[in-house]
Amino acid sequence: MIAKTIAEARKIVIKIGSNTLAKADGTINPEFMADFAEQVSALMKAGKQIVLVSSGAQVAGLSTLHRWARKKDIHYRQALCAIGQVELMDTWSASFRTYGIHIGQLLLTKEDFLDDHRTLNMRNTLFTLVDEGVVPVINENDSVSYEEIKIGDNDNLSALTAILWSADLLILLSDIDGVYDKNPKEYPDARLFEEVSDLAKLRSSISIGSSNSFGTGGIETKLEAAEKVTAYGIPMLLANGGKPRFLESLSNGTQPGTVFLAR
Ligand code: GLU
Repeated sequence: MIAKTIAEARKIVIKIGSNTLAKADGTINPEFMADFAEQVSALMKAGKQIVLVSSGAQVAGLSTLHRWARKKDIHYRQALCAIGQVELMDTWSASFRTYGIHIGQLLLTKEDFLDDHRTLNMRNTLFTLVDEGVVPVINENDSVSYEEIKIGDNDNLSALTAILWSADLLILLSDIDGVYDKNPKEYPDARLFEEVSDLAKLRSSISIGSSNSFGTGGIETKLEAAEKVTAYGIPMLLANGGKPRFLESLSNGTQPGTVFLAR
């Protein structure tokens, strides 16, 4: 099912969470990013168009500055993201350049998606970048967003992006293999849902825990993303970005994941 879903999609939005981008010590992982860029370039050579939604501004900020780690104050957090976003893009840019691919940055907020003129411009920019073989890399504009105008997590941001760009598939890469009926880290007998067609039924059969350590999302925001895109006829794949060569393995059907079928 996963291999078929990827094979049938031409326009793919891939979201990478902070946990996937970060090493265990909380600093960003350039080796991961280089390896990922290589796999994306292979997909592009195979005719796919890719838009990336990348978290990690805060993680990259902490990696760069080595201080403010414990500051919870919003001004420090926004300042950290301003610093980290540059580092993040610098690393993405270097990773993709190895394969002759340029990247373009879009930093968005919830308000941007609510305004017709802005969405039209975002859409046009995305189409132009992709047509020219550039990989757009999107993140929330953390330094200007505050509670009221914030999307808050990149699962929902990537869903809005997939809808805006009329993608064929959204892939959310996380540190889990997919949706389980209970936490697989606590329960070895947890069962992976490979295919989901009824989100309401799924919700009633799983226990949703809290969010992970570096990112903002948890399983709840992933289900919200699935609700958004599948309503627009876009399937979503939730898979583990921590496995070696995961894009290849997912494409050839040797890695598990959860596919949310389009409605
Ligand atoms: N925009 C945040 C960052 O780049 C991450 C949001 C998320 O993890 O979902 O640090």
